[in-house]
Amino acid sequence: MSALWADEQVQRPTRGQDAMKIEREDHKLEKRLCREMSRAIVDFNMIEDGDRVMVCLSGGKDSYAMLDILLKLQKRAPVHFDLIAVNLDQKQPGFPEQVLPDYLTALGVPFYIENQDTYSIVKRVIPEGKTLCSLCSRLRRGILYRVAGELGATKIALGHHRDDMLQTFFLNMFFAAKLKGMPPKLVSDDGKHIVIRPLAYVPEKDLIRWAQVRGFPIIPCSLCGSQENLQRKQVGNLLREWDKKFPGRLENMFSALQNIVPSHLMDRQRHDFKGIKATGVADAEGDKAFDAEEFGAPALPAGAAISIQSSTDC
Ligand code: SF4
Repeated sequence: MSALWADEQVQRPTRGQDAMKIEREDHKLEKRLCREMSRAIVDFNMIEDGDRVMVCLSGGKDSYAMLDILLKLQKRAPVHFDLIAVNLDQKQPGFPEQVLPDYLTALGVPFYIENQDTYSIVKRVIPEGKTLCSLCSRLRRGILYRVAGELGATKIALGHHRDDMLQTFFLNMFFAAKLKGMPPKLVSDDGKHIVIRPLAYVPEKDLIRWAQVRGFPIIPCSLCGSQENLQRKQVGNLLREWDKKFPGRLENMFSALQNIVPSHLMDRQRHDFKGIKATGVADAEGDKAFDAEEFGAPALPAGAAISIQSSTDC
């Protein structure tokens, strides 16, 4: 089914050799983005026949790319669904309010702009020097839920990507002492909406490149004057560093989020450790408590060809 969502022939003009090479790369990227988004949609049953998907557009590269790829998939999806792009203009100083309407009108996409001056509320309520984000995002969330209801949207699509999900996983582990990530699909906290993240499988570097290829009219995200989330920034830097030094590590970590083994963690709510009893039946795939575990194909820097063993073999 995902092949039906992803398969597309894109015709582009041919030019000089360099231009042709770039076009080939761009074409490969486009196919990859379509493939990964359709895989996520199918794996998590994000979009169903008859859905009306509210695509939240902030003016950043991720949400532009999400809409762009969703529009491509819409043309060849095996199910029928509608898209409506929604932007919340929070009246931040200098917000270029014509950019998104002009872009969406040129694209011919149905859209709705909600004007709500949350910026003034947040500035009035939060003392100078304190971070604005928690109140700002709470207000935004409530408004977007209301708009989704008014527009009759059956799904709310957000532009978070694979790296956002990995960052959230580490932030929760480091600062909230929880093994908890960012789900690709969830029921909203008011219980009324289904929120989806069609870019769940897409690495951020592909979105950066795609934004350049497509020349999206990016709106800067610093207009509110809020400081960047330092913890998220630090975790993002850590992940980027790992990705450079240890190719494949981010992919493995992301796969790990989809491949959990509750019996080998320590959450007593998820696994009945107290009730464990020997079965008396040998299991070739069972746990070898005394053996050192070996991990194949370690994500190591080039040249460091050693085998990794867990420290349980002492
Ligand atoms: S960065 Fe600015 S716009 Fe974004 S949540 Fe924080 S205060 Fe709101």
